[in-house]
Amino acid sequence: MSEPLFLKSLMHDKIWGGTKLREVFGYDIPTETTGEYWAISAHPNGISVVANGQFEGRQLDELYRNEPTLFGHPKEKVFPLLTKILDANDWLSVQVHPDDAYGLEHEGELGKTECWYVIAADEGAEIIYGHNAKSKAELRQMIEEKDWEHLLTRIPVKAGDFFYVPSGTMHAIGKGILILETQQSSDTTYRVYDFDRKDAQGNLRELHIEKSIDVLNIGEPENSVPATLELHHLRTTCLVSNQFFTVYKWEVEGLVQMRRVAPYLLLSVIDGQGSLLVDNKLYNLQKGSHLILPHTISEWEFDGNLEMIVSHPNNVR
Ligand code: ZN
Repeated sequence: MSEPLFLKSLMHDKIWGGTKLREVFGYDIPTETTGEYWAISAHPNGISVVANGQFEGRQLDELYRNEPTLFGHPKEKVFPLLTKILDANDWLSVQVHPDDAYGLEHEGELGKTECWYVIAADEGAEIIYGHNAKSKAELRQMIEEKDWEHLLTRIPVKAGDFFYVPSGTMHAIGKGILILETQQSSDTTYRVYDFDRKDAQGNLRELHIEKSIDVLNIGEPENSVPATLELHHLRTTCLVSNQFFTVYKWEVEGLVQMRRVAPYLLLSVIDGQGSLLVDNKLYNLQKGSHLILPHTISEWEFDGNLEMIVSHPNNVR
């Protein structure tokens, strides 16, 4: 029997978090400063658990290792992607992530290329995306002089925007933004600047200036150009496709029949309501549902009004 894998996952308290994960998605949040929901994750810092069917209660990392047929007998040893929803009630630190080579050498884990789909943004909300230094020497000088105003590139954002954030890109999600992030399964972050903020215990969070300068790219970040295809009752937008992952936005209105074109899919419902039909069994989909369509499902049907962010890994390693 083939079944979708609906997931239950962990919330993470953050200095910059808020309450939108409850207000917008109806999740149970542990604190009033909940910043991240690791919605589809096999990373040791927050592992999803299957919530339905014959694999109920199984952890995604263990399932990936021991049930390779569900994932099309993948080459990668660890589940390669991580889907998060972030509620930035305040600025996240200005940061950068290493690529795979640097991450493996210095942290013992893969690097992190990520991307953001903006679910909601307050009026006037901004992100930091890239920097203005023309060389590593100028970058070092501006960081040492704390010339953040001239160094950091601020960009206004609104709901529906998409940003591709390859490893080596200077970035920060700004106050008042709710984002779905698709990323390599990694938790390595180098902080460049944290707005001189102190946590509840009065401590500054650690910065990682030397490693940041090592891995920061010079030059403007290369955002992706989304491409939309209008099909019968389905608008599909390819948001980005690179060596690590492909990410789509699917907007369903009515009945849509689909066939699998990747080994497996990660699926997050960000708006609307509807159903998923697999093997004559109907599953309810609602805003906030997160699931994996495993390799054992080759065709399915959506019905309803659904807005989803869908991704799959790309095998190059
Ligand atoms: Zn990041």
